[in-house]
Amino acid sequence: MTSIKNLLDNLNNEQKKAVLNTDGPNLIVAGAGSGKTKVLTTKLAYIINEKKAWSNQILCVTFTNKAAKEMQNRVLNYLKGESSAVPWLGTFHSISVKFLRKHAEAIGFKSNFTILDTDDQKKLVRRICEAENIDAKKISPQFILALIDSWKNKGQLPDEVKLKKKNSLEDKILKVYKIYQEKTKDLNAFDFGDLILYTVHLFEKNKDIREIYRNHFKYILVDEYQDTNFIQNKWLNLIVNEKRNICCVGDDDQSIYSWRGAEIKNFLTFDKIYPNCKVFKLEQNYRSTKNILATASKLISNNNSRVGKKLWSSSNEGELVKLNCYRNGKEEAQGISDIIEGNIKNKYSLNNVSILVRAIYQTREFEERFLKIGIGYRVLGGIKFYERAEIKDAVAYLRIINQKFDDLALERVINKPRKGVGETTLKNIYEFASKNNLCLEDSIRKLVENNKFKPKIKTAFNNLISLIDKWRNDLKLVKHFDLLKLVLDESGYSSLLKDKKDLENENRLENIKELLRAMHDYDNLQNFLEHVALATSIDQEWEGEKVNLMTMHAAKGLEFDVVFLPGWEEGLFPHQKSLQEKGDFALEEERRLAYVGITRAKKEAFLSFALRRIYQGDWMDAVPSRFVNELPDKNIEKNEMKFEKEKDDFDFNQDTEIEFGEEFRSPGWNRLKKNKLLRWKK
Ligand code: ATP
Ligand code: MG
Repeated sequence: MTSIKNLLDNLNNEQKKAVLNTDGPNLIVAGAGSGKTKVLTTKLAYIINEKKAWSNQILCVTFTNKAAKEMQNRVLNYLKGESSAVPWLGTFHSISVKFLRKHAEAIGFKSNFTILDTDDQKKLVRRICEAENIDAKKISPQFILALIDSWKNKGQLPDEVKLKKKNSLEDKILKVYKIYQEKTKDLNAFDFGDLILYTVHLFEKNKDIREIYRNHFKYILVDEYQDTNFIQNKWLNLIVNEKRNICCVGDDDQSIYSWRGAEIKNFLTFDKIYPNCKVFKLEQNYRSTKNILATASKLISNNNSRVGKKLWSSSNEGELVKLNCYRNGKEEAQGISDIIEGNIKNKYSLNNVSILVRAIYQTREFEERFLKIGIGYRVLGGIKFYERAEIKDAVAYLRIINQKFDDLALERVINKPRKGVGETTLKNIYEFASKNNLCLEDSIRKLVENNKFKPKIKTAFNNLISLIDKWRNDLKLVKHFDLLKLVLDESGYSSLLKDKKDLENENRLENIKELLRAMHDYDNLQNFLEHVALATSIDQEWEGEKVNLMTMHAAKGLEFDVVFLPGWEEGLFPHQKSLQEKGDFALEEERRLAYVGITRAKKEAFLSFALRRIYQGDWMDAVPSRFVNELPDKNIEKNEMKFEKEKDDFDFNQDTEIEFGEEFRSPGWNRLKKNKLLRWKK
């Protein structure tokens, strides 16, 4: 067991001061890799060690469940044998779930509520649009949900949204929002935004409940504070008590979630909410080599709106940061995989090698290449395990067993396996449900009782309903993973997969086995369902020797020995869409993203761009990112990568091949020099 003295001895003076200053509000503002998260973890241990609070009287908000888990393991290790109480550690969402499970009744919900995923949300919005005669082709469910989410991030329930214009598009969507909230209440369900919004609502409407927690939490610690949005900040302020023991850490240069409503203002005006707060600045970077740090610092210095910090490092210069120019996207993937094979693989564990992209679709080219040459990889943020069809089917069965109001789950399992229930039958049941104010399950029960179905369908529903009753009873007798086995067998779902033997079905069976295995990690059905709902892409397995592929957004807070940053081209990075929508503000956020990307690297960083890339099915010329021009010459090495044409390695047809030949006569760097926007500063 590590002693607190050891923990403190491992810190520099400023870090130590920040740890020891436990009482009153404090803010730690510092650049990437300066030990902010380390300070937070040490502070947690220190508070427990000094007996300033019992461990469960500390609330610690992390950015991902993965970070929460890591912190929990460290604290558990630290607490070994001393206490069984664990701090409240988690994301805003997972901690909100904890509050809501306990107090759902106070705001008109039941504690076995469901958490909706994006598919559920879209389904619900589509259904509302149909009923309200809104053409889903004109206003997409995604657009509607994005606006609803932005209202939720601002803390506004439908009645609190104030629109300037009547009969506008927003007005239409506001109506959808209103119905959407009523429906989710009927379903006894929360979407992600609701988890936080309703927690705030719970505390605002129930002073007694709020007081319990204000008194209970003696210390509140928050990581990645620069990316909190309005409602999250309100959530925090509601549970801070008059002692104001709140410690927030963050870096304004790493604020990259404004598209989710993050407000850097929260961070910059912390001292207005908490006057006399102590501010600590950490300036030593422990993560990266000097070359990596200098590259990142130079790049971010091009932003105007920043606090401005200096970071230094006592580590060695390290390798120069490589800036590689490839002829096209495919060669970029090939080139990066060659570097990994030829050089990186022998020096580092593949787990410590990451390719960080701007847009998740960029991973495809790498996946193809890695499959071809046999490099193991994992995509964090691709199709999540829990988003696969068979997994969603199995989970839907569990969800309806958990609570009968979950219409969306019941609808999903009704025809799996097929029972001949068509659209019209389903529509009729929904109409009956809405007229009688019943959930889908109760409506089916009623309609079966009153003999309203054709005999075949009646039998099918009868069977399904009695099975659901049986499974609910089974849940009291057997473990949740054994229950799923019963459900899959008795519903006929297993034979559906087993009877048709093809590779896809075999994969599905494998996935179901994996699901059963994963269920063992959770005490009960509800905890498991909660995990499924809250698991984010970054929380997947990290075991095994594999290269990581993920977005730069997802990599926040993480660190790797080697980082590849491909696709530094105008339009891709900085991303065209965000520039069009938000102009200079977006450009600065894209630059912060670049800063986050580079500063994930400890030892080596490889930036690259391609001169041609397939965009929406066609080959397009690409212009190197303006960020390329903002890098410090002395810390980077520029290489123009040339490949021998591999026989079957190009998709070009004859035409594009000619173009390609011409292009190659004017080498990439020349083109770069010619470009007015991107003149090299030599
Ligand atoms: P980010 O801004 O990316 O979230 P951070 O400021 O939270 O970074 P940490 O992740 O806490 O930084 O620390 C970066 C790395 O430096 C970690 O590997 C950490 O263990 C190490 N580190 C931090 N402080 C020290 C120290 N005083 N001595 C040695 N290593 C340290
Ligand atoms: Mg951190």
